[in-house]
Amino acid sequence: MPKTLTEMAQEIVVQQAGTRNMTVEEITHMLKETFAALQEVSRSEAQFLPKAEIPEEVKEIVQTDPLRSIQEHSITCLVCGQTFKQLSAKHLALHNLTPRDYRIRYGIPLRHPLSAKDVSEKRRETAIRLKLGQRMAAKRRQKQRASSGAESAPAENPAAEGEQTTSRASSRGKTRAES
Ligand SMILES: [Zn+2]
Repeated sequence: MPKTLTEMAQEIVVQQAGTRNMTVEEITHMLKETFAALQEVSRSEAQFLPKAEIPEEVKEIVQTDPLRSIQEHSITCLVCGQTFKQLSAKHLALHNLTPRDYRIRYGIPLRHPLSAKDVSEKRRETAIRLKLGQRMAAKRRQKQRASSGAESAPAENPAAEGEQTTSRASSRGKTRAES
């Protein structure tokens, strides 16, 4: 069972008080300070960790394919389940992880960007443009034109002219026998 902040503060102060002589004022002051400090820590913890349990789907992603946490428009932190545009080193530090630790822990390739695909893509495009100028972009445009420019000829509708000729030849052969 987790301890309350008061219990934790008490414990710390009692330990401190045991190591040296403290006046009542000192103890009171220390208790207050310690409590405030613990409260601060707890607040920042609550701010970054969701109150609820990590959603089932996030757990499932961890177990099956961690790369699925990186979507087109978002990346989900596999530790706490929050979503971001970019999973920053600052956020991971809250989980006592570096981006490298995080990748290793979840089996994400070390060079894989920890950001939404559209963000990574934009960044990659910028890099390419810086390196190769407009060449790549022009190529891509050309490719797009080629794939969208396929024209289909209008389908002709050949009128099926079926002449139905029903010849109901009723030939009644009357044979008259004439003598
Ligand atoms: Zn997180």
